[in-house]
Amino acid sequence: MKTGQERIEPDRKKLNAGFEQVGDRTRSKNLLKMKEHLIEQLNKKWEGKPPEEVLGYFLKEYKGKIILASSMGAEDQVLTRMVADADRDTRIFTLDTGRLFQETYDLIQRTNEEYGLNIEVYFPDSGQVQDMVASKGINLFYRSIGNRKLCCDVRKNQSLKRALAGMAMWICGLRKDQTVTRFYNKLVEWDEKHRLMKLNPLINWTEKQVWQYIREHDIPYNVLHDRGYPSIGCKPCTRAVQPGEDSRAGRWWWENAENKECGLHNSE
Ligand code: SF4
Repeated sequence: MKTGQERIEPDRKKLNAGFEQVGDRTRSKNLLKMKEHLIEQLNKKWEGKPPEEVLGYFLKEYKGKIILASSMGAEDQVLTRMVADADRDTRIFTLDTGRLFQETYDLIQRTNEEYGLNIEVYFPDSGQVQDMVASKGINLFYRSIGNRKLCCDVRKNQSLKRALAGMAMWICGLRKDQTVTRFYNKLVEWDEKHRLMKLNPLINWTEKQVWQYIREHDIPYNVLHDRGYPSIGCKPCTRAVQPGEDSRAGRWWWENAENKECGLHNSE
């Protein structure tokens, strides 16, 4: 009788070949079915397993085609440590929007020094930023959701596309209990927008587990977390929260909860 791994293996090889075709915009119904089947099998096999074990498998299986996206948040710092322990050659990147907190830049430096890493920093296209600011203003995001999404697109999403080019899988620090919009995320997902798989090793972790791991392993973290900032993004779009407030309440606080994503993790 075949083991779970043996059952997944032929599909994975075919699908990897297929990803290259998808990259060339060649779509086929069979490939889509195969993709769904593979993802279902991977979730069945790995759902509920410890993140270190999950990462150990995927970093090996997708070596050279897998990348960790870090916002330098608490979850990503946990993943950075796990990835550095498992395979130091794995690419890790972060997006510098040009509007980050100084404390975030300090953390990038500290993390690199602590683990001997060189986190790749992606910057937005200067021409696009210049055009946007010229037509909409430097603080356009406060004026409408459309403006805010435009700014996130120019300063984050375009850089993300460049960072993910050529990859088969990206690793993210999403957790189900972070927001209403993340409740339905799974361990392994198909990211239709960027056309590659997404791995969320901490999907079932609670905030408490994240912080327990950080303390136990003495992981560097953003000092703003100790000043009432549970979730940290760009400086003009992040504020501290009051005790008892939702952990994402300080992000784009002037918008409704349903709108509070920057497009990095939306499928549209
Ligand atoms: Fe622009 Fe705010 Fe989005 Fe940062 S979080 S890219 S400043 S809208």
